[in-house]
This record gives sequence, structure tokens and C-alpha cells, in this order.
Amino acid sequence: MKVYVETYGCRMNICDSEVLVSILVASGYEYTPQLAEANVVVLNCCSVREVGHAKTYQRIGELDSCLRDDVVLCIAGCMSTQLQNDLFDTYPRVNIIIEPTAYRLLPQALVGIGRGHLYVRNGRQSEVYDDVLPTRVLEDSVTAAVTIMKGCDQYCSYCIEPYTRGERTNRSYEAIMDEVAEVRHAGYREITLFGHIVDLWEGEKRGARIGFAQLLDDVAKACPEQRVKYISSHPLTYTDEIVQAVKANDNIMRVVHLPVQSGSDKVLRNMNRRYTAQQFLQRVADIRNEIPDMQIITDIMVGFPGEDDDNFQQTLNLLRLLQCTNANVFAFSMRKGTAAYKHFDDNVSDAIKKERTEMARSLVGQIRSVEQQKLIGTTQIVILESEGNDFWYGRDLYHRTIAVLPTQEMDIGQELSVKVSDLKGQQLIGIAL
Ligand code: SF4
Repeated sequence: MKVYVETYGCRMNICDSEVLVSILVASGYEYTPQLAEANVVVLNCCSVREVGHAKTYQRIGELDSCLRDDVVLCIAGCMSTQLQNDLFDTYPRVNIIIEPTAYRLLPQALVGIGRGHLYVRNGRQSEVYDDVLPTRVLEDSVTAAVTIMKGCDQYCSYCIEPYTRGERTNRSYEAIMDEVAEVRHAGYREITLFGHIVDLWEGEKRGARIGFAQLLDDVAKACPEQRVKYISSHPLTYTDEIVQAVKANDNIMRVVHLPVQSGSDKVLRNMNRRYTAQQFLQRVADIRNEIPDMQIITDIMVGFPGEDDDNFQQTLNLLRLLQCTNANVFAFSMRKGTAAYKHFDDNVSDAIKKERTEMARSLVGQIRSVEQQKLIGTTQIVILESEGNDFWYGRDLYHRTIAVLPTQEMDIGQELSVKVSDLKGQQLIGIAL
């Protein structure tokens, strides 16, 4: 029996898909990347934006017309927590809906399901699958993500994650270090420690309580041949100790994902982010004081309820002060069940959200171009991740992608010194030395 998985949404869903496939493989299933070969099809779906739900329903419709009658169709992921049994009336082709904490029950649920319908939950608030080693059939061969926690208890007013994935639960130190050893031996070149707010990880090492800074230091020292990175952090919890751990280890990437969301204190307050724009900028200044070349990747949400032109200008201003070269810019999407849904009207029009999204992206693009120009003539160490028609593509220690002209034998995962020679659009070009 073969299982095929499609994953939508964030990196957490990709990690969850790997766990889900591991559980099925341990029960005798085989993974297939071919939809046509599958006996079980899993859509691992995302609920963070409304568009995620729309995509899922569209995909169910497409599968309805092409799947064989004997194929079981299963909806998993954080979206499943929001679905009710009545989805089976609207979409009878769906056989199983399974919540993220219930994946261990999937093999049992598949037994004898036929064309029936089953909603699978286990009532647990959280499940970190401590003992499940991911199959890694869905990731690339260069970077391995190691999940260190599940869930989040920050309750940002716009976010559905604490309701769909439950409160934060940490994986144990031993389970994380075992998985790190496994990916190191498997030859991965990069390890990403992954969680909603990794800074908040806590665990026990030989009977003593430790935090994320110690874990990060231990992983970096256990993997001297690998690059180590971590996603995501939070402006309030990214501590000086974590900065020092980065500083002390040359193989920890000089990049931190620190979402700010808005430059307006009014909007930040309504988002329940619990810091001001000035506090965020001070945090970044403190980090750069210790590690001057640290790259900051941030997230910006435009069009939050009540965001007026002045508030948005404050966000643009913050991006300028930050000299932000890398930002994920999203338009606010109202999610039922969140605090924002209870307390605010979604009163910024789609047209304005679109316009602000484009303006913020354009500003970040301009800042990035200026910064990238400064790299021309420098030498960077990249690890090759993919091969295109004319170039190979690799990342440097600062998470920048460089397109490398193939002047010698090259291989995925290879580490190379590259001289940056040009900037075409937003793409850095380099020559292997
Ligand atoms: S920190 Fe806020 S935005 Fe991020 S997952 Fe937690 S609640 Fe959601």
C-alpha cells in the first residue's frame, strides 16, 4: 500500500508531513511521490490564511475527478482542527479528517475505511512525536529540519496557530540531539532547528534545566561540519545568551528571523505583540552591536484592522531604519476564532492591502539592491543547493542565494568559495574560485 502527500503552508506542515509518512511507513506503507500510484492520498493543509482553505477545497474538487474509487483521501494539518463533520456532506470524496495531534492513530483509522468517513482526534492539547524520526522523503538533500517544539502560547490577536496546534510543548533534549546525530550521519550539510518561537525552548540536560542558547551551542558543537540555523525567533524572547551562542560558533548562520509585523505602536498593541517599534529597533541594534554582520529577516503584516495611512508609513519608516533587506510581507487575513475576529472589523479594503503589500515589498527590494551592490567583488562561502539551466544556486552563511557560474565540476551539497561578480535584478551572480 502506498501513500502520497501534498503539503500546503508553512515549514511546520512540511515537518509534520515527514512525521506522518514515518508513522505510516512504520505500519507497512510505502511512500510514493506519484499520485497515480497511491492507495492513500494525504492533503496536509494550512489554516493561517483564508486562501489556504480555498486552495484545499479546489484541490479536493480536482482529486474528486481523478482519483480511483478505492483511494482513501485524508485531510490533515492545522486546517483539519477547524473542520467539522459536515465537510463530509459537502465533500463526500474526503474519507478522513485528522488533527495534527492524532497522526499516530492514522494507520488504525485507515483499516477498513473503504468509502466511509471518519473524523480522527485524540483530545490531546499537544503532541511532539518525540520518538518519531522523520522519513525526510519530502525535504531537499542539503538541509534537514529538526523540530524542537510544537504549538505556541503567544496569542497574537490575528493568529490561529495557538488554537489549531495548541500551546507550546518542547521536545526533549535527548530526542533533539538523537535526531541531530542522525541527520549529521546522513550527510546533510545544514540543520535547521525549527519551532514557532525557538527561543522559548526549555529542556533538561543531565538533570539540569537548560534553555535554547545552550541547546543551540550544543548542536553547533556536535556538528562542526554542518551549518546550523534556527527558525523562528521573537523580538521579546531572542536573548543576549542566544546572541552569544551564535557569536561563539562560526558554523551558526549569521541570520535571525525576527518578525516585527508593524512599525505602528497602535497596531502592535492591537496585534498583542507586546513590544513597541522602538523596542524592536533597540533589540536589533543590540544584536548588531555584538554581531555587526547579522542579517535580519522580518515579517510584515499590512492591512490589520484600523491600520491607517500614518500607521502604514510608520511601518515603511521602520523598514528604512532597520535597513531591511529581507521581509516576508503579507496582507492581513481575518481568521474565525481569533481575538482579532472577536474585537475588530476587517476594515482595510483589499485594494489598499494589495497596494501596501506592493509598497512594502518594493521598499525592501530597493534596500536589498543597495546592500547587494556592496557585495560585488567580495568572496563568500556557499553551499550548493540546486542546479538550473545556466547556473548552480547556493546559499552563503548569511542565507543569501548566489547564482554560481559552473566553471568546474560541481555537486549538490558542495561547499565553494565564490567571488561575487554581478547583480542581475535581485540575483547575485558569482564565479567559483
Ligand atoms: S508568535 Fe504569534 S504569530 Fe507566531 S505562531 Fe505564536 S501566536 Fe502565531
